[in-house]
Amino acid sequence: MSGFVGHGRAEVVDAAGLVTVEEHLQGILDLLPAPDPIELRLSDCLGLVLADFVNSRVTLPAFANAAMDGYAVIADDLAGATVDEPVTLTVAGEVVAGGGWSPDVSPGRVVRIMTGAPLPEGADTVVPVETTSGAQGAVAFHRAYERGANVRRPGEDLTPGQPLVAAGRRITPADIGLLAAAGATRVSCLPQPRVVVLSSGDELVRAEDEPHPGRIRDANGPMLAALIKQTGALPFSAGIVPDDRKALMYAFDTNLGHADLFVCTGGASAGTRDLLPDVIDALGEVTTAKVAMKPGMPQIRGRIGETPVIGLPGNPVSAFVSFEVFVRPALRRLQGRRDVNRPTVTAVATEPLRASAGKRAYLRVRLAREEGRWLATPTGPQGSHVISSIARADGLAVIAEDVDEVAAGDEVRVHLLVD
Ligand code: AMP
Ligand code: MG
Repeated sequence: MSGFVGHGRAEVVDAAGLVTVEEHLQGILDLLPAPDPIELRLSDCLGLVLADFVNSRVTLPAFANAAMDGYAVIADDLAGATVDEPVTLTVAGEVVAGGGWSPDVSPGRVVRIMTGAPLPEGADTVVPVETTSGAQGAVAFHRAYERGANVRRPGEDLTPGQPLVAAGRRITPADIGLLAAAGATRVSCLPQPRVVVLSSGDELVRAEDEPHPGRIRDANGPMLAALIKQTGALPFSAGIVPDDRKALMYAFDTNLGHADLFVCTGGASAGTRDLLPDVIDALGEVTTAKVAMKPGMPQIRGRIGETPVIGLPGNPVSAFVSFEVFVRPALRRLQGRRDVNRPTVTAVATEPLRASAGKRAYLRVRLAREEGRWLATPTGPQGSHVISSIARADGLAVIAEDVDEVAAGDEVRVHLLVD
């Protein structure tokens, strides 16, 4: 028996005709193609997953250089230097960072050196300028230094063949710095998935327009685009499409070219105007599911050509929760991320959390830290149309199917809405 008779493939369902969250999620993940790596410039890689290991081809530092501004010296020359009996040596010249030629250092002769400048021939140590005194031409040293002090040695940072960034890692700003230092300016990454967002419903007007009586502003379109952006994927808007077969077909058709994934809202359930399953079925394949969750029971997954389609219920809270439960993991998978789920914390409920038995509940909660524990408090009315309840939430308290109430003081798992 299928969730909605007449639509798509049959699924394993329980007595109430429900499938589990895991089954629907797995069905979505199974629709996703294996992501194809592309070679990108380093400046375009932030947040993307690296496809191949990058090993250093260089030695870094490439040459011995000064870690401080001071004097390049032979440590043995300063062996007996003290504050009372300083050693005075001749300054043979100066070398700066990026500078080319410099005079050699030899017994009795030192060279003024700046941070990052190559260590002159003959020198083995750099003495910070702050610990010296003296005028042009001669300088007094007031203490001895260990040989090699304040010298950055070649290969201290990187040697050829050393791993720089591991495959599967999300590239951070520091990785970009490291790769740049090593001259690895083009790397193989998994590209940002392009996600087309489609809001369906005759009642919808654009957020910037004034709704006539009976109409409402499209909240899901902007919200889903923002959620998609937040994952690191690229949202494209297909705009608002009325509950009209031809209009929906046209919207899919014209957007197919720039979609790695379609995310639609509205028209997913069993109303007379819920056309999405039929339309996707006509263009490709579709599975409708009544998922044992609240909010977000009516769900759609399918494929048009090679492009996966996820259809979420229209209520903004349902759409938001469904995004967290189904779309975010799908996008992370498309991005090559191994951790498809966001982190969770265990929190203590500050008031009773009520859920309906037989369904997994996702309640919007605010989190507070107190005496080393997280406290979870519902953000207010939990109806699936109450959009303010998500804007105030730090997390979704997840209450198992077989639990209908979490008592105040009991622990609950909270899916964090931050990374
Ligand atoms: P549906 O899934 O089409 O049955 O819609 C369920 C509820 O969500 C209805 O109250 C719709 O008006 C509302 N809704 C659908 N799409 C949107 C949207 N894009 N933004 C805000 N509310 C919506
Ligand atoms: Mg509708």
